[in-house]
Amino acid sequence: MQTLRQIPNLLGKPQAHLAGEPIVALDNISARYNGRFALQDVSFDLIAGEQVAVVGPNGAGKSTLFKVIAGVLPSSGGAVTVAGSGPGEHICIAYVPQRSQVDWTFPVDVADVVMMGRIGRLGLFRRPKRSDWEYVHQSLDVVGMSAFAERQIGELSGGQQQRVFIARALAQEAELMLMDEPLTGLDVRSQEDIFVVLDELRTRGVTVMIATHDLNLAAERFDRVMLLNGRLLGFGKPEDVFTPERLISAYGGHIRMLETGDGTMIVNDTCCDH
Ligand code: ADP
Ligand code: MG
Repeated sequence: MQTLRQIPNLLGKPQAHLAGEPIVALDNISARYNGRFALQDVSFDLIAGEQVAVVGPNGAGKSTLFKVIAGVLPSSGGAVTVAGSGPGEHICIAYVPQRSQVDWTFPVDVADVVMMGRIGRLGLFRRPKRSDWEYVHQSLDVVGMSAFAERQIGELSGGQQQRVFIARALAQEAELMLMDEPLTGLDVRSQEDIFVVLDELRTRGVTVMIATHDLNLAAERFDRVMLLNGRLLGFGKPEDVFTPERLISAYGGHIRMLETGDGTMIVNDTCCDH
């Protein structure tokens, strides 16, 4: 469990951004826990501003991948760079852990959660200025959560909590957002609210990676999809990646493809949060 204050990157440092380098580049990354591989030989580049869905069964290494990119878990081989530099805790990365990994009872109000996004910009012991609070309130406004500024974060619904974290990323002026299963457990309406905010991130050119179990949403709403199961099984346009052969190799028998009037619907029965 992480308390809200332990979620990384609050103390990230502005790192050099090298012109012409991809926003994220992984070159043969592997990651291990106690000697066992969770990720093996993963290589890809992200294009600045794109929105990517990361899918794969439970234990596929989705969360591990985000931790390696965020610089909170060292890789055991290969190289990660963010805008040409790193690894390390870049201030330009906002990482939102899986809901089950956060201690939501930690007493902190919504405006303070969003202000945490400014801390890296302030320096550790400096006090927020009026302009920082303006950033916080504007960011809450963008995600439609202004009315909740003084509420305790633990009192909000899952979808509202996700929107507050997106506001925190906006206040942080993040350029890369890693969101671990933000849609899991949300009703359709709350998922739609998140997609509205993702559209705003798109207009701001923020690069977004989202882990999800919903293959249909992944295919419909994202520029590219990444299919992971320890290794990278595919990365590209949904129609190229979500082929029956690749899906079976990721999910085994836990996948069905249904032909409907509107196209193919993919049903997987591995769900969701641990
Ligand atoms: P996903 O997010 O796709 O479900 P994870 O990245 O959480 O996958 O896990 C990948 C693999 O690493 C799994 O086999 C999981 O059991 C293992 N793992 C994840 N976190 C730890 C940890 N802290 N200690 C030991 N093993 C872990
Ligand atoms: Mg996970």
